[in-house]
Amino acid sequence: MSHEVKPAGMLERLSHRMAKRVPVGACAMKNHGPLVSFTFDDCPQSAFEHGHPMLQRFGVCGTFYIASGSIGRRFKQWTVISEAGVKALSDAGHEIGLHSHAHDPSGRLSTAAFTADLGHNRDVLSAILPDKAFTNYAYPYGRATLRRKRQLSALVRSSRSVISGINTGILDRHYLLSVELRDPMPSREDIAALFAETRNKNGWLIFMTHDVAPNPDTFGCTPEQFSDIVEQSLEAGLTCLTVDRALDAIGVPSFNPETAMVAA
Ligand SMILES: [Zn+2]
Repeated sequence: MSHEVKPAGMLERLSHRMAKRVPVGACAMKNHGPLVSFTFDDCPQSAFEHGHPMLQRFGVCGTFYIASGSIGRRFKQWTVISEAGVKALSDAGHEIGLHSHAHDPSGRLSTAAFTADLGHNRDVLSAILPDKAFTNYAYPYGRATLRRKRQLSALVRSSRSVISGINTGILDRHYLLSVELRDPMPSREDIAALFAETRNKNGWLIFMTHDVAPNPDTFGCTPEQFSDIVEQSLEAGLTCLTVDRALDAIGVPSFNPETAMVAA
């Protein structure tokens, strides 16, 4: 896994633009109050060591999207959580989400290869957590295509992007918007404005980050920054839920492969 993956080519970029514009599995949001979710991609060990206890301190849970081929491995920028860590997160009530096995940009794979890789992701996580279902997905590198988005509608309940914004009104559930906590970090004022807008529009604000460390990678934040934002979100009156519980609150039907949309 590297965040220095080859940039998308023109066709992939065009298809990502289409994915952004064309809703798939859209539904009207029926939540009774504003929601916030904290999500982690790849789950570096530091997200487990710092992010997880901070959420616990505030009595809330997050969603950790795991690329199963990276579990326990050391990369240039961080070491990824171990199998025991994944189990400990789940035992503490956090949601474990899908993030591919090989962490390839989704648009690079054929339809069959994408299904196989996601199946492998599920199988590895199921071997660690036999009693859990893994129903929510985050695109590696945030890179989607329209074809992949349609395919995912038959495979998972939701798919999270890294395109910044608040989810309001009609939920495009295979292109969930999120706000990244990374360098440069949004200011306290920017965050307060996001909370105000989420409240005013009765929306769902999803944060995403990677490592939570005193000297984080470009794609992470410090424990203090993370803790401040969790605290600020609760003070702002937002209800903090995992992605799966937030989808329940919004009124998205439970994921059932039998009734899922037919893959494009
Ligand atoms: Zn990732």
